[in-house]
Amino acid sequence: MSRREFRLKAVARKTKKSFGQSIKVDGTLAKKVALSCRILAKLGLFKETTGHVSARSLDGRTMLIRGRGGSETGLIFTRPNDIVLSDFDGAPLKNRGGLKTPNEACIHGEIYKRRPEAGGVVHAHPASIVLTSMAGIPLRPIFGGYDPQGMRIALRGVPMYESSLTLHSVEQVHEMLEVMGESDICVLRGHGVVVAGKTIEEATIKAIKLDHLAEMNLRAAMLGSVPSVPQEDIDRFLSRRQAPGRTQEPLWRFYEEWEKRN
Ligand SMILES: [Zn+2]
Repeated sequence: MSRREFRLKAVARKTKKSFGQSIKVDGTLAKKVALSCRILAKLGLFKETTGHVSARSLDGRTMLIRGRGGSETGLIFTRPNDIVLSDFDGAPLKNRGGLKTPNEACIHGEIYKRRPEAGGVVHAHPASIVLTSMAGIPLRPIFGGYDPQGMRIALRGVPMYESSLTLHSVEQVHEMLEVMGESDICVLRGHGVVVAGKTIEEATIKAIKLDHLAEMNLRAAMLGSVPSVPQEDIDRFLSRRQAPGRTQEPLWRFYEEWEKRN
């Protein structure tokens, strides 16, 4: 047994005691986590068996996260049974077919600990992000009405964590969170991206919008001289009030239907 497994088992024993015997997996939420994995994988944000999505459980103190091991067959084929209930230290609270939490589960757990408002986290490895971050291509606002959500991400700016290594320790995650600051997004140079949202739907859509923004900037860099949209447009865009109560639900429904057909 590795040191990590030994530590997680000890934490799980302690956590089970404090949670009591009534720990239940929320089936509806597990389905949503699995769906988010499949959507992002079909869009190319996940590669093979790497990357993960999680959602904070209704109890607020645990998370449902894409597991590793067991009979898993990659992110694109994720089933609700591939989702593990765990505490924020990455210790599984239910034994489901030998599934473990991913080595980078601490990314999710530390975000939930620090941000009480966070309900969903995506850690993906989009090629567009890996290439733009390694090539030093900034994510500029090169479109407006084509995708206002993507434009807003570009205007807010996207922090970049410099290390390309996977984040296995809480210390590494804390370093990354320092860089991330107040943003919902952090690019990990040569590695991928971390996106937090109030809900799993919001985190998923934001990750997609970021991927679109990076993909467009990558293509623009290959064309050579695509300017950013004029400052006048940016000023007018920023002076617009965001429609109150607008949510990601219609886009989530779009991707839910799209996933069924793809
Ligand atoms: Zn990773």
